[in-house]
Amino acid sequence: MSLNNNLMLEAKDLLVFYENALAINNVSIKCRKGEITGIFGANSAGKSTLMSTLSGLILDLKIKEERKGGERITWFGDIKYEGHNIINIKPSERARMGIVLCPERRQVFPESSTLENLKIGAYLATREQAKKTLEYVLNLFPELKKLLHREAGFLSGGEQQMLAIGRALMAQPKMLLLDEPLLGLAPAVEARLAQAVKEINEQTGITVVLSEQYARPVFPIIDYGYVLENGSIVLEGSAGELMNNPDVLAAYFGM
Ligand code: ATP
Repeated sequence: MSLNNNLMLEAKDLLVFYENALAINNVSIKCRKGEITGIFGANSAGKSTLMSTLSGLILDLKIKEERKGGERITWFGDIKYEGHNIINIKPSERARMGIVLCPERRQVFPESSTLENLKIGAYLATREQAKKTLEYVLNLFPELKKLLHREAGFLSGGEQQMLAIGRALMAQPKMLLLDEPLLGLAPAVEARLAQAVKEINEQTGITVVLSEQYARPVFPIIDYGYVLENGSIVLEGSAGELMNNPDVLAAYFGM
């Protein structure tokens, strides 16, 4: 078990409702500085809602829903990030504070080139930071070098995911939120990306929160994990604790 108890983010008693439907039910999580925290759960367990609540995107979703006369989105609880309560802080401000979301299904700009996508990510970076980070990203994902001038929409799923992670890195995160980064990828690509996430974490010290439906490919890289079921946390533990529990492995990790 890690000796690093330095908390970067702590969410307490989070509740999120879409109209009357409870999507996140009394969730409390802790993410330690420099660690990789995994959030696991089946379809509709609440992973993306939790990520939106941590990144602040839920504030934008709420406004959009209100404007189109849709359902009401409400939330309760606290999120403390580096000592600040951020629950009502806008996502753009949270990004400035270092919380950067890499959204589910990559969401690269398909008609912009790979390079343009990366440059868009650098909106919070100084020119010097942007240059250095671009170099870092292209070393981490050399596959992207020959694709710099190709429209992102023509990249494979794995390449788009590399680009999405690279774009998020360009925003100079202190905490990177990766929402299902391995979704729909072939096993070899999954392993490649899981390894890249580990490298980012080890080489840059960026704290990572990563959600996945299937824990197996990311299990070796996480420090601590939570299992979400119907919006509630039903299980948590260090990678070692989770790995030493055969019932847990069979039920939640397909191992
Ligand atoms: P997936 O793996 O399918 O992305 P998830 O674990 O990310 O699932 P969420 O997308 O957070 O789960 O969904 C949690 C619950 O909230 C589900 O019951 C879902 O139907 C509901 N939900 C999510 N987004 C909305 C929305 N915009 N409006 C209404 N209900 C929503």
